[in-house]
Amino acid sequence: MLRFDVSDLEDEIEVEFDEGPEDLGFQDELRFADRIKGRVRISRISGGIEAVGEVTTAVYLECARCLETFRYPLRTSFDVIFRRGSEPIQWQEEIALNDEDMKTSFFQGDFIDVGEEIRQDIIVSIPIKPLCKESCRGLCPRCGGRIDKGECKCPKEEKGSPFAVLKEIFSEKEGIEHGKS
Ligand SMILES: [Zn+2]
Ligand SMILES: [Zn+2]
Repeated sequence: MLRFDVSDLEDEIEVEFDEGPEDLGFQDELRFADRIKGRVRISRISGGIEAVGEVTTAVYLECARCLETFRYPLRTSFDVIFRRGSEPIQWQEEIALNDEDMKTSFFQGDFIDVGEEIRQDIIVSIPIKPLCKESCRGLCPRCGGRIDKGECKCPKEEKGSPFAVLKEIFSEKEGIEHGKS
């Protein structure tokens, strides 16, 4: 839990953290490969409390092309204003219009829950189509083998397909032009 008592926060505090995923309320929506570490600076500003920080961790994701599980290192930063009270819907819309980059959260009582902000931040940092590497060639559409791992032994071109025939004609021609016998 990364909850901070801000009732007697004078100026600002800076805290380093090192949390397990379950401490931040993760259940099994993500498989973590590392703990969640970072630092946060909490300061009193006019009209609220600002929490600025950065987070590093790593998760296991499945490549959208080759379906291989891989370790995805994640680094993200956050900047949230906590305002006292409950969320006024109309005001929230105004905030969204006026200040798209600044996130606003609401709190009641003496504590702000920075852990919940970090949890949301991590979730939105996960790519929708994760790739083990940018150049991943994925699975062979015919045999289902992972091409990059050499699992596919299919012949390069299917004999008799229009493209293969054309290619043969061209390579023969090329052979002649280059004086190949
Ligand atoms: Zn891949
Ligand atoms: Zn194949």
